[in-house]
Amino acid sequence: MIKKQKLLLIAVLVVVFFNLTGCQQKQKIPPQTQMVLGTVCTINLFEQGSPVVYAELFKELRSIEQKMSMHITDSDIAKINKNAGKNSVKISDETFFVLKNAKEYAIKTEGAFDPTIGPLVALWNVSGNENFGDSPKVPSFNEIQKAQNLVDFQKLELNEQEKTAFLQEVGMLLDVGAIAKGYVADVLIAKLRQKDITKATIDLGGNVYVFGEKQKNTPWVVGIRTPSFTEKTTLLSLPLKDTSLVTSGMYERYFEENGKKYHHILDKTTGYPAENDILSVSIVCESSMIADILSTACFVMGKEKALSFLAEEAAERAVEAVIVDTQNKIWFTEGLKHKITVINSDYTLQ
Ligand code: AMP
Ligand code: MG
Repeated sequence: MIKKQKLLLIAVLVVVFFNLTGCQQKQKIPPQTQMVLGTVCTINLFEQGSPVVYAELFKELRSIEQKMSMHITDSDIAKINKNAGKNSVKISDETFFVLKNAKEYAIKTEGAFDPTIGPLVALWNVSGNENFGDSPKVPSFNEIQKAQNLVDFQKLELNEQEKTAFLQEVGMLLDVGAIAKGYVADVLIAKLRQKDITKATIDLGGNVYVFGEKQKNTPWVVGIRTPSFTEKTTLLSLPLKDTSLVTSGMYERYFEENGKKYHHILDKTTGYPAENDILSVSIVCESSMIADILSTACFVMGKEKALSFLAEEAAERAVEAVIVDTQNKIWFTEGLKHKITVINSDYTLQ
């Protein structure tokens, strides 16, 4: 008999710490936090913050949520989903840009990242979203197979000229949950540049952007959380500036059934939450959107494949990664050598 389901943890709890002690200048108004895109979003503009700028940035966040949330009825994504197998849909330039990148990386990652993962996300409903029915439970084999058959990025048609999108089969569903927060962070940073703001930290539920430097010639110190269901401690820290750090981890959203935990990052080849030798993947990249895609994709790939994929990707753009495996070992790419400080001594640097 299936035990009563329990949604154990939804909020992505602080994976990041910004060492703010010793800031020379006085902060005008404190950092601002709002719930957007189903997650806790915090923006800190330090001494350059003003109510007007904060309001503008959160307005931008909400406007993107209105276009890309699959749970908002008239969003671009919801419209594409509703018209699956029927009509192509005219969408905003922003959603088109996100979908174009999503498809490109679905091809590159051979579907480890797949924006048409929606039917499996809806079936598992790990987050317990009321639009997807009851509390989460392990689906039947038949249900999984049926949903799996509807996941196929090759059946997402995009028309660049017309700015339209079309899902070829009835029942297909787009879910941009593994890319949208990264995209939003990039848009916010572009806005800050336009306004000549030189320093900020943005934390969109664990998708972090550190913009500028903490102080002159002093980088930010960013922490990565220990990948544990129970332990909310910092695993390691690394100095960063003008870049994004995005982590995908099994501890972020999950439910438990018959003593087994099921998390939110799904492997379309099995139809189940990805299960391999990885506990968490953190990607450092100037584009938060790419970091977001890659963290999810690498999590699904497993360590060996992820590291070789990242080496190929590094030929195209600057990208670094920290991978924590099931043996409590911390793997990292060349560019992070001598930069990582391990804080949790249960884990060892490779
Ligand atoms: P992230 O936290 O960025 O790794 O994204 C996870 C979210 O993306 C999940 O909550 C799903 O909405 C969606 N998702 C789950 N598995 C995949 C996948 N293999 N490819 C693309 N999106 C996924
Ligand atoms: Mg992601």
